Amino acid sequence: MRVVDVVKQGDDILHLLDGPAQFSAGAAVHGTIDWERRYAHMRYHTAIHIIDGIVATRHSSQGMLTGSQIYQDRARFDIDVEDFTREFVESVVQELTR
Ligand SMILES: [Zn+2]
Repeated sequence: MRVVDVVKQGDDILHLLDGPAQFSAGAAVHGTIDWERRYAHMRYHTAIHIIDGIVATRHSSQGMLTGSQIYQDRARFDIDVEDFTREFVESVVQELTR
């Protein structure tokens, strides 16, 4: 079975499957990581932290990262910026890629 999402519910971490569970509660299960997917998530996660660092340390007067979502093929993030300009984006991208 494939794990299609993972959510935190209180202190529990739930792995949502792509269909009805084919095992009973309490059964031991064996999982494997889809490394291509996992590695893509790691890279996007790291990139977002770097962007957050740039925005927080170099542009703190202009805004801050307020949220993000990571997918296998892309990521998105929210920045709370008073004056969201092309120059602001270009300065962050310039620092990110130097
Ligand atoms: Zn993190």
